[in-house]
Amino acid sequence: MQEEQILTVLKEIIDPDLNRDIVSLGFVKNIHIQNNTLKFDLCLTTPACPVKEEFVSKAKDLLNNSFKFDDITINLTAVNSPNRSVRGSNDHHPLQGVRTIIAVSSCKGGVGKSSVAAHIATELAGRGFRVGLLDIDIHGPSLPALFQINRIQVETNDQKHVIPVERHGVKLMSFGFLLGDAPAVMRGPIISQYVQTLLFQTDWGTLDYLFLDLPPGTGDVQLTLTQTVPVDGAVIVTTPQNLSLIDVSRGIIMFEKVKVPVIGIIENMAYFECPDNGKRYDVFGPSACEQFKRRFGVETLGQLPLNPEFQRIDPSVRHPAIVDLVDQTVRAIGKGVVAKHRTPQMHTDATHLHMNWSQDEQISVPFRRLRSSCPCAVCVDEITGQRRLDPDSVPDDIKPLKIIPLGNYAVGIEWSDGHASGIYSYEMIQSLTDQK
Ligand SMILES: [Zn+2]
Repeated sequence: MQEEQILTVLKEIIDPDLNRDIVSLGFVKNIHIQNNTLKFDLCLTTPACPVKEEFVSKAKDLLNNSFKFDDITINLTAVNSPNRSVRGSNDHHPLQGVRTIIAVSSCKGGVGKSSVAAHIATELAGRGFRVGLLDIDIHGPSLPALFQINRIQVETNDQKHVIPVERHGVKLMSFGFLLGDAPAVMRGPIISQYVQTLLFQTDWGTLDYLFLDLPPGTGDVQLTLTQTVPVDGAVIVTTPQNLSLIDVSRGIIMFEKVKVPVIGIIENMAYFECPDNGKRYDVFGPSACEQFKRRFGVETLGQLPLNPEFQRIDPSVRHPAIVDLVDQTVRAIGKGVVAKHRTPQMHTDATHLHMNWSQDEQISVPFRRLRSSCPCAVCVDEITGQRRLDPDSVPDDIKPLKIIPLGNYAVGIEWSDGHASGIYSYEMIQSLTDQK
C-alpha cells in the first residue's frame, strides 16, 4: 500500500518542540494519490507554527527521494480547537470562527500586561495571521492608548454585532471604546454583562488567534471570565522587581481551577538596554525564569526590556525581543494543544509512584525521594534556593494520601506527614526517576 510507504517516509520528520515524529502526532491527514500526483494535509497544532515551512520542504525532499510523483501538494492546516462551544449561546455565535483563544493575565497591575498582549498580537498580524485583541481590563482599558485610538464611534452590523476596530491588521475591541472617558466604577454582575457583550456580541469573523487582555489579579472577576470563555491557554506576565513566586503560583492555581493550561510566563521590564551602546543591564535584579521552571514546571516564553517605545504600538519597528517572544509563544501554544491529550496515567504501589504516558514512556519514583524533593516555599528557601527540609526528617513509611493532577504539567500531592503545599512538575518528577 503506497499510503503506508508514504507515512513511513514522513515519520523521519521530528517536531522539534514535541520530540515526536509528525506521523505519530497525527499531523498527516487525507492522503490522496491520483494520476501520479500526491496530495495531503499537514495539520499543525497552531496556525503560526514557526517550523511549518521547514516541515514542508523536508517532506517534499524526503518524498522526492523515495517516490517519483509528478507533483506533491501539501496543504497546511491547524487543529481546530476541540472545545469551541460557548455555554448558553446558540449555534451561530461570533466566536465560532475563532481558532485559538489565549488569555493574557498578570497577578498585579503595572507590569505592562496590555502592552505585551498588544505587541504579540501586532507581530502575529504582521506575519499574516488573522488576530483579534480584546481588552477586558475594566479598571483601566489601555488598548485605546496603546493603539492611539480616541473617540471611536463603535458601529454594529445587521445582526447587531459590534464591529471591531482594525489597526495594523489586528481586530480590536475594548471597554474603552464603549465607555469613552467615563470612569469605570462597576461591580461584578455589570462587569460580567459588559464582558459578554464585548466577547459574544463582537463580530470577530475568522481569527487564527484571539487574545484576551484580562484585568490584573486572580480574584472572582478573573475566575468568572475564564469560566465563561472557552480559553485554550493562558500566559502570565510578570516583572522581576515585583517578583513573587507566590503571586505566580496563585495565577497558575486560578487557571488550574478552570482547567486552562498555563502555557508560559513572560518577564516584562526584565532588563534595560542602553540606547547608546546597546549594552544590557539587569537593573531590577536577576531573572526568576529558572525558579518558575523548577518550582512549577512552567517555561518562560521570553524576557522583554524596559523600553518607553513599548508604550505605543508601531508596527514599523520590530524589536528582536518581541519577535523572539512571539516565536516561543506560538510554539508553546502548539505544545499545549498536544499536551492536552498527554496527561499520564498514574498509580501507586507500597513504595513508588508510577507514571505512564505511553508504552515506552514510563517512570517510577520512590515516595520518600519525591517528598524530600518537595520544591515548595516551606521546603526550599524562596530567596536563596537552599533546601530547608532535612531529608532525614522524612519518615520511611511516607506515602501520598491524594495525588491531584494539575493540568498537563504537574501534580499536587497530599502526604501522610500532613504536608500538601508542593507542586511537582512532570519534568521534575522525571529527573527523580529510578530508571535512568
Ligand atoms: Zn514542601
